[in-house]
Amino acid sequence: MRRAFGARQLRAAILFLAVGTAMQASIQQADFGRLPDGTAVSIYTLSNRNRVEARITNYGGIVVSLRVPDRNGSLADIVLGFDSLADYLANPGPYFGALIGRYANRIAQGRVHLDGAEYRLDQNNGPNSIHGGANGFDKRVWTPRELPDGGLELQYRSKDGEGGFPGNLIVTATYHLTDANELRIDYGATTDRNTVINLTSHSYFNLKGAGSGDILGHLVTLHANRFTPVDSVLIPTGELRAVDGTPFDFRKPLAIGARIGQDDEQLRLGSGYDHNWVLSRHGNGLAPAARVEEPESGRILEVHTTEPGIQFYTANFLDGTIRGKGGKTYARRSALCLETQHFPDSPNHNNFPSTTLKPGDRFQSTTIYRFLAARK
Ligand code: BGC
Repeated sequence: MRRAFGARQLRAAILFLAVGTAMQASIQQADFGRLPDGTAVSIYTLSNRNRVEARITNYGGIVVSLRVPDRNGSLADIVLGFDSLADYLANPGPYFGALIGRYANRIAQGRVHLDGAEYRLDQNNGPNSIHGGANGFDKRVWTPRELPDGGLELQYRSKDGEGGFPGNLIVTATYHLTDANELRIDYGATTDRNTVINLTSHSYFNLKGAGSGDILGHLVTLHANRFTPVDSVLIPTGELRAVDGTPFDFRKPLAIGARIGQDDEQLRLGSGYDHNWVLSRHGNGLAPAARVEEPESGRILEVHTTEPGIQFYTANFLDGTIRGKGGKTYARRSALCLETQHFPDSPNHNNFPSTTLKPGDRFQSTTIYRFLAARK
């Protein structure tokens, strides 16, 4: 009798400890400052059993830091960003780590036609609209909810007419950090009027560590046979061009620096890589989109997504004037973005997958950033 009671107690104690540890280690909230109007903002630390850690704020849903191991198990923060909320407010230009909406990337002339009506969006990038306009989702305070499984759900209600877009939109982005060293983002949205939607996450990765030089030695693979060439203001021409025989062929791992300096019209227009690739494995749920390997540290990033496209951007517009985390400066090409998405300017191209969302339908999308380390 005594033995049975003891074993039961032991089992209960182990269960209590296991559940308790998992819950405590997985998500923690702290203050991250206030907006000028007094609104309090939080920062959440998601961590897993491998000591991998993602810090995310409900201001813009920004991934503030992401610490992952190299081949020796040493952790480094591999995303660009700032130490304080005030710095994010003062430097919105690069969209470091933010959730992007209502429409990721550019819309030509800031114009969308839906149901016979023309909608005028903010023209905040030359003649075009970019990343949802002057006050996109990256500059909004999202309503946070800590999930029992250690995830972080962020919700934002975008009003009809906000940024010029029609329809009241309820959008959620849910972050999970798994024990397989994956940062998973699930997006969902509903609307009460026909609208357009394109959501992404704008992390700037440097797998050597944020602020540790350029990314030209990173080896990139993109699972794409075609890309969407752009015009002089980075709007897709509508063509789906084969990557074959161009500097845009990343079907086999290739150093970013190998061809970025080639005399190529598209590279000139983008000041480097700043294009949308058409993902070849799109169509059946989550599919591999990209892989990046950094040979010195051995860190590897794999991107899987349900989205049809990916914007590969080599931070051509950073110029070293911004002081980031720990006072480090971020020079041109000191990071890369892999923004899973529908194609830029889709509302103005009938041959691109549709970005229209209708009442009664639910927009759903998932992207996983998985971190691994190569052996020597
Ligand atoms: C765009 C770049 C832009 C960057 C920051 C990327 O998605 O393609 O052209 O400079 O975002 O806005």
